[in-house]
Amino acid sequence: SPVLVWFRDDHRLADNPALAAAAATGSQVLCFAVIGGSDDLRPLGGAARWWLHGSLRALGESLEQAGASLALFEGPAPSVVERVARETGASAIFWNRRYGAAEIALDTAVKKRLTDSGIKAHSFNGRLLHEPWDIVNQAGRPFQVFTPYLRTVMTRGLKAALAPPKRIPGGIWPSSLLASTIPLEELGLEPSSPDWAGGLRTAWRPGEEAARKSFRHFLSKGLRGYAENRDRPSLIGTSRLSPHLRFGEISPRQIWHAVTAQVAEHPSLARDAEKYLSEIVWRDFSHQLLHFHPHLPVRSHSSRFDAFPWIDDPKTLKAWRRGRTGYPIVDAGMRQLWQTGWMHNRVRMITASFLVKHLLTDWRKGEAWFWDTLVDADPANNAFSWQWVAGSGPDSAPFHRIFNPVTQGEKFDPDGDYVRTFVPELAGLPSTFLHHPWDAPPAVLQEAGISLGETYPEPIVVHGLARERALQTFRSLRGLE
Ligand code: FAD
Repeated sequence: SPVLVWFRDDHRLADNPALAAAAATGSQVLCFAVIGGSDDLRPLGGAARWWLHGSLRALGESLEQAGASLALFEGPAPSVVERVARETGASAIFWNRRYGAAEIALDTAVKKRLTDSGIKAHSFNGRLLHEPWDIVNQAGRPFQVFTPYLRTVMTRGLKAALAPPKRIPGGIWPSSLLASTIPLEELGLEPSSPDWAGGLRTAWRPGEEAARKSFRHFLSKGLRGYAENRDRPSLIGTSRLSPHLRFGEISPRQIWHAVTAQVAEHPSLARDAEKYLSEIVWRDFSHQLLHFHPHLPVRSHSSRFDAFPWIDDPKTLKAWRRGRTGYPIVDAGMRQLWQTGWMHNRVRMITASFLVKHLLTDWRKGEAWFWDTLVDADPANNAFSWQWVAGSGPDSAPFHRIFNPVTQGEKFDPDGDYVRTFVPELAGLPSTFLHHPWDAPPAVLQEAGISLGETYPEPIVVHGLARERALQTFRSLRGLE
């Protein structure tokens, strides 16, 4: 009888433990994915759905080249998986683990139902360097703080990445099931109109092959200098692997070993590599936190924030979302997000801080917008990062650290190239005024073709006042400092 591989956020053939184990059984391997449905899982946002579409297409093509195929079903997953197992007469099913509470509950329920009917369910770690429960402190408890977590990870070995199976002996789907498969194009993952996905198509190519190419390029051209360049949004100074990692088109283990090998060959890369790998460990850390604190995406981790008097102002929220706050670095970031489905990390921190602190808007509103518009929208990284910025999470930036969007802009986009790219109406302004156009003399504005309040907004809040208001609000909450 055949065996099944259930693909979920692990869209690759190389270093895929579930696929490798299934292929090693010597049985026919039937591969499938289940999309949507009425599970308790959080529905994907628009940009991530677009990515998923391309990612599934690429996965299907790679599986076909290896001798198998990918069948797509529509959810709910528990009944679909059970039906697939029953009607194929499979002896076992293989999958890689996920770490959110709803995902774990779903997998546990499916596993029980299958095991009760005599089908073996095998699960693997295909997503993280280390399982959340394997990196714990001396008392056996999960770390709440990153640095000791990182130190512990550094003492651990890591098995070699798995080569892709040479051939996957695909099986034949029973006709009853084939009739229930859905062609990719009919899953409705691609947005129809308006076609905002045009910008995504220009910026990205989903799939394992594209992930491999980007990573190779980063290793040869981007790793040297990463520690410095990673903070400069106008440069391609980071690996831009986040959506590929999100959908499992490359594994952190592949990255870890390749970077380590590169350093062994070029020891002068050590500092940049250490910084880069620590970011990969942040990713593990946020998954670890999500695993042990499943409320992370929906509730402030620190209960002291429960009483925070957030301001609910649809007008300022809209200005933030559209990149019309009047602060050029904030607006450039929000427009980069809308146009390309991605935003540079430094600017994610600036825009998130602006929403939470300058506008006193609940971090969950920002998290939700990012969830909908980021191609890399990730249940662990997004929630953890928003709480980090808000100051409500475990191991967070303190609330009273309030980014000044002008000095941040001047420091990290000194020539203004980033702002000029995404806020073209300011392009003609000299760099001296680019991050605070309201200080430019009228003649300079006129020369640059800018009329504040018309061609570009006046600031929606005054930095100094907003900062004071945030600090006062924060102080008014007992126990927050
Ligand atoms: P690189 O600098 O090349 O880093 C390599 C990889 O390390 C990234 O692809 C990512 O997987 C991981 N990584 C890097 N920084 C972080 C971090 N701070 N926390 C956790 N993992 C990290 N990242 C997401 O993947 N999905 C999200 O939904 C997400 N939301 C964010 C929201 C906010 C408010 C902030 C401040 C950060 C968020 N991040 C998120 C983290 C970070 O901004 C992105 O991972 C990074 O910008 C992706 O670009 P890159 O692949 O070029 O990163």
